[in-house]
Amino acid sequence: MTAYQGKTQPIRLDSSVQLMLGKHLLTCYPHEACGVLLGAAAAGGMHIKDYVPMSNVAPDPLHAFVPDPREWVKALYNEPAPVGLFHSHPHSAPWPSPSDIEGLSALGPEFKVYLIGSPCTDKNEEITLRGFHIDRLSDSSGTAVYRLLHAPLYALLK
Ligand SMILES: [Zn+2]
Repeated sequence: MTAYQGKTQPIRLDSSVQLMLGKHLLTCYPHEACGVLLGAAAAGGMHIKDYVPMSNVAPDPLHAFVPDPREWVKALYNEPAPVGLFHSHPHSAPWPSPSDIEGLSALGPEFKVYLIGSPCTDKNEEITLRGFHIDRLSDSSGTAVYRLLHAPLYALLK
């Protein structure tokens, strides 16, 4: 496990993106917020440079997220294409839920990172953000298996 964790590259966020994520999360509260992340692979990990907030059209937006299909398709065909997905957990810690893991199979291979945010009440921060790499494997029968690997997350001050 130790060797494996050593290979988990960091995810870096521009501080402006961190602010946008926090704002969107708080604006949508108590509903889940969602959107896509723009960026690129950079030396030593992923670098997230922009965020495109989306409307959550889930029937139960308190406990689920479904990005608006029109906004979703528009973002996918835009340049640059999204490299990651963000959503919030307004009522629980920012760890992937079973339905989050299930939803990974709907994401194309251009999606490399996965960010989850939660409102934070015990620190001097607006939100707690956690970052994950989307890991795609196939099991012995060739079935795709998806995992989220927790990655160090840094905000870049400019
Ligand atoms: Zn979730």
